[in-house]
Amino acid sequence: MFDITFKLNGRKVRPNQIGDALEKALLQKVEDDIKKKVATVRCPEHGQAAQIVASGRSIDKLRFDIKGCCEKLISDVKKKLG
Ligand SMILES: [Zn+2]
Repeated sequence: MFDITFKLNGRKVRPNQIGDALEKALLQKVEDDIKKKVATVRCPEHGQAAQIVASGRSIDKLRFDIKGCCEKLISDVKKKLG
């Protein structure tokens, strides 16, 4: 299953756990955008979806680490994310 994890300042967070309404909305938007782009991407060989870890010091400075079953899936997901 497609999975996305957020880590802010090294702490794992879920958009629905964030108290600050603005940050919560921002994070939810990031999550939705990524899901729209890559949730349907599957490895043609293994049928797996990617796992994405978005980490950074703040929500506007996230970098994305993509994990997958093989290089092909990872590069497909990278292409979709732009
Ligand atoms: Zn694969």
